[in-house]
Parts: sequence; structure tokens; C-alpha cells
Amino acid sequence: MRLAIASVAGLAWLVLAWLLLRDAVPDGLAVGTIDVEAEFGADLVEEARRFERVLLGVWALSQATLLVTLWIYVRRGAGLTRESAAGPIGTGMLLGMLGLGLVWLAQLPFGLVALWWERRHEVSSVGYLEWIAGDWLELGAAFTFVSGALVIVMFLARWLGDWWWIPGGAVFVATVAAFALVSPYLAETSQARDPALVREADALERAEGTGDIPLRIEDVSGDTSQANAYAAGFGPTRAIVLWDTLLDFPDGQVRVVLAHEIAHHAGRHIEKAVAWFALFAFPSAWLLMRVTRRRGGMGAPEAVPVALFVVALVSLATLPLQNIVSRGVERDADWRALDATADPDAARGLFRGFASSSLGDPNPPTWAYVLLQTHPTLAQRVAMVDAWEAREASSKRDDP
Ligand SMILES: [Zn+2]
Repeated sequence: MRLAIASVAGLAWLVLAWLLLRDAVPDGLAVGTIDVEAEFGADLVEEARRFERVLLGVWALSQATLLVTLWIYVRRGAGLTRESAAGPIGTGMLLGMLGLGLVWLAQLPFGLVALWWERRHEVSSVGYLEWIAGDWLELGAAFTFVSGALVIVMFLARWLGDWWWIPGGAVFVATVAAFALVSPYLAETSQARDPALVREADALERAEGTGDIPLRIEDVSGDTSQANAYAAGFGPTRAIVLWDTLLDFPDGQVRVVLAHEIAHHAGRHIEKAVAWFALFAFPSAWLLMRVTRRRGGMGAPEAVPVALFVVALVSLATLPLQNIVSRGVERDADWRALDATADPDAARGLFRGFASSSLGDPNPPTWAYVLLQTHPTLAQRVAMVDAWEAREASSKRDDP
């Protein structure tokens, strides 16, 4: 019986994943490889490689430290419950915050080293104190989130026993969906005013069939010279946000970025991200229920350090899968943007610019690609532009 339920659930998971992976990129599209040194310049490639090697090393060390810290907390943390005067849920929350505080302290030196390296290469201009203050704010947000999650999970587990993971998973998915819905309002932005830019966005929205999407500008030029843009929200809240630093780019490149962000809405990538979260959340909640049983289940505060360790381990172990999904939607957005703009030279120029402004290695080592590459590599993105161009040329030949 159990085996039957597990097989049905596994099959349903695979079918849903397959549906979510469908995209606008033509099936069987032949994307070749490019000569990275010729495309980006040998000096830049060498510099980017040296720059990224250090950041990758720092990342690997920080992850190892994170797991070791949490493992020690698993061994020692449960003893602290005897000293707590709070009730079980209050004690669980205290243990959750203490665990997060330890993680924050253990990660802090690595963050500072990475910042030092980025400042040295003029990729970042953020000050150290400013960075720590920002990190501190993030810690506050994490505290709030983890405390909320613990209260809900511990309450459900004390009420429903081992079955908490089903409503618990649903609560997490609902929270993530609500967050995705309100996220356009979390950053301070203003409506885009430049009439040429707004006209351009309208034309691209028509080309990609999305209907009108509000275009907003985020004023970041005082803090950074990096350029960025993102699609946020879904349904009634969907929006496209451009950093004002991007507006200095050549018009053709701004168009490519706009088309790419509109494509995230055209492909319903934000709704899909919530659906993917659900596909990971329920099995993770189930795993959490199983692993914490020996400590009395998630209703017992002793289980909290174990839960933190499992969440960290699962997040790390599923990185390769998360990145496959993320690279898939980015590829989809790149392809739709090429179709909408029909300007392969602007796309190439944009990707070349990314390599020099953020010193991104166009062709990173395989392990880094698998664990950390959320977008196709710059080499792959340029190769896709080539593939789009080749396909365009051959369809013109077939259909004069
Ligand atoms: Zn994107």
C-alpha cells in the first residue's frame, strides 16, 4: 500500500515537473559551442577566471563551515532545552534564533573576504560597515521568517503528530506565493517616465503577447554602478523593474533586457517558480518529519537544531536541481527576447558587457556550473544567439 502511494506520488511529481519544464525554445535546437577567448578576449577571460576562482573557494569553505557549525549545534543544542524556562514552542523558537545567530557569525568572515575581493576588483563599491548593516537586516528578516515557520510547524506537529507535513507544506507554499505576489511593492521604485522607453516596452509586450505590464525604475545609482533588471509579481501585481544604472546602456541592449524581463512574465516564470517550490517543499517537509522523529518529532524543541541542519543540507543538496530549473527559465527568456527584438548583435553586446562589468567567467568549471550557475553561462548565451541567427537565416532560405 505504502509502495503504491509512493509510486503514484513520484509519478505525479515527474509529470508536473515535465509540464513545468516546457518552454518556447524549439525542440532539438542545435546550440553549438563558441570560442570563448575570441568572443570575450583572452585577457578578460583570464582575469575573470582568476577573480572567480577565489570567490568559488570562499563559497566552498563557507558552506563546509555552515554544515559543521550546524552539526555541532545538533550535538550540543538539545542540551540547552533543559535550561529554558519557556514552554516547548517558545524554547523551540529560541533554539531556532540561536542557531541562525551562530550561522550568521560563522558566515560573516567569508562574506567580508568576498567583499574585500570584489572591492579590490572594482566589482563592488559597498563599504564594509554598510555591508554588515545590510547583512544584519537580512538576518532580521531570516529571524522573522524562521520564527514564524517554527511556530506554525511546531503547533501543527503538536496537534496532528506525523501528519503535520501536509498542512505545513501547504502553509510554506502559500507564504512563498504571497511573497511573490507582493514583492513588486517591497523595493522603492517609481513609474518609468521616458516616453521612448515606455513606447519600446509597449511594443515588446505586444510582440510577446503579455498585455500591458507596469514599468518601474529603481534608483540605485548612488550605491552601485552594476546594472540589473527583474520581473516581479504575478497576476494583478506583475511589474518590470529596471535599475536606473541600466538606462546608460546602448538603446539596443536596454531593449534586449526589457524583452528578457517581459519574457519572464510571458512564460509565467514566477508562477512556475512557486509551483517548483511546492514540488520541493512537500518532500522536504516529509523528510523533516522522518528525520526529527528520534528527537520526539517537530513538536519537541530538541528537534529544532536537527531541523536547521536538515534544511541547510537539503538546500545544498538540491542546488544542482534548482539551477537546472533556473537555467531553463533563463534560456526560455533569452530565446523569447531574441524573437521579440530580432537584434542578435545587441544581445551579444550585452553578454560581452556582463563579462567585463561583473567579471563573470564566461565558461566556469563544471562543479561551479552545477552548484552555482543560475543562468546559462555567458558562453552558452552567446552560442544561443548564434543558434537563433542560424535558424533565422535558414527559415529565410526556405521561405523566400
Ligand atoms: Zn532572467
